[in-house]
Amino acid sequence: MSPHQQTHVIVGAGLAGAKAAETLREEGFDGQIVMIAAEPERPYERPPLSKEVLRGEAARETAFVHDASFYDERDIELVTGTAATAIDPGRFRVTLAGGRELAYDRLLLATGAEPRRLPVPGADLDGVRRLRTLADADALREQLRPGARVVVVGAGWIGSEVAASARTLGAEVTVIDRAKVPLEHVLGERIGAVYRDLHREHGVEYLPQTGVGAFEGDGRVSAVRTTDGRLLPCDLAVVGIGVAPRTELAEAAGLAVEDGVVCDERLGTTAPAVYAAGDVASAWHPFYGRHLRVEHWANALHQGPAAAQAMLGRPVVYDRIPYFYSDQYDVGMEYSGLAGADDELVVRGDLERREFVAFWLRDDRVVAGMNVNVWDVNQHVQALIRSRAVVDRAALADPGTPLDALVPATAAS
Ligand code: NAP
Repeated sequence: MSPHQQTHVIVGAGLAGAKAAETLREEGFDGQIVMIAAEPERPYERPPLSKEVLRGEAARETAFVHDASFYDERDIELVTGTAATAIDPGRFRVTLAGGRELAYDRLLLATGAEPRRLPVPGADLDGVRRLRTLADADALREQLRPGARVVVVGAGWIGSEVAASARTLGAEVTVIDRAKVPLEHVLGERIGAVYRDLHREHGVEYLPQTGVGAFEGDGRVSAVRTTDGRLLPCDLAVVGIGVAPRTELAEAAGLAVEDGVVCDERLGTTAPAVYAAGDVASAWHPFYGRHLRVEHWANALHQGPAAAQAMLGRPVVYDRIPYFYSDQYDVGMEYSGLAGADDELVVRGDLERREFVAFWLRDDRVVAGMNVNVWDVNQHVQALIRSRAVVDRAALADPGTPLDALVPATAAS
């Protein structure tokens, strides 16, 4: 009798799922791997969808995580265009749309997140778009022509990057934001203002503290009505007002869910043999001493492999400091850490020239840092955060003091 061949099933074929499958094979797992993709595409990365791929500067092919041959070559069964409809952790089974049932030895939930919808009249009109998938990016790219009138709703990361890309392509762009400045929820008012000015200098009309009352049009959007009664004529609208983790499968299966699928630091959920990674996972973070759900690319990139290691019984603890980057026009940035609205801001460099490092301090310690058009410093920012060292504000603000000099030797080693 042949020994039982193990099957590991990955539900969700985004970056986290794809990197998990890759790692399972790299680490020598020779059982069956099945990946379930709701979309018709093989796994792809999202950062280029609001940047190079949206602007047509990079081919859509460049967004894919792996070559088309990768999955066959590694004997990974990639089931595309098929959603998982249920999991049964008691019977170690996953059910797919169409009725196929799969038995698993380990299951990874990497179902990602779903864009929030704006609950206003006209939200279903043609031309009211979102940007989450490669298909969304394809459709949007078609319409971002020079002179096209685009209203962007929300100035979070999607809104900001889409506005920059659309403007770069020559569209007429208006951004409606309920905050005072773009990205205020992450960067606060002073740094958010840098992005407001950047967009305005590039010709974007930025409307702060403005809500959407309705999308108007006959079948197709032709204007956005603001809550203060203005009518903004447009050819299309792009809504980027955040995402919600796709937790329905986990919830229905009785797993603990609290703004994400609750996991321990090994990314194990409350059900045996079930793991979670990426946007959907709310994992215990040893450094922060609490559960953390991170909606950024780097988290998916690293949590997928960590979950795969855990699925193979390896001793892994996921404790990376959150990290992300953004490019808008000629301004690039990297951000590490986690800051709140009450944290103190210290700036090194020049906000007006958009060449600076911003630090957020809590109890005299750096909790987050963001370098803007300044490079090769992010590893020092992360080391500072991890060291929890009390910092000298003057030295932190002084571009002449190397950042690594502020990291205590004991923490740096
Ligand atoms: P986001 O960055 O979380 O920003 C959402 C924005 O929408 C916030 O400014 C929020 O304002 C606002 N908002 C929420 N509900 C609203 C409502 N009902 N009406 C008007 N505004 C509302 O989300 P996103 O821009 O949609 O991006 C989607 C996901 O992709 C996020 O997880 C994001 O991190 C990720 N992403 C990341 C990058 C990057 O790392 N460079 C780029 C693109 C996308 P409040 O703060 O007031 O709630």
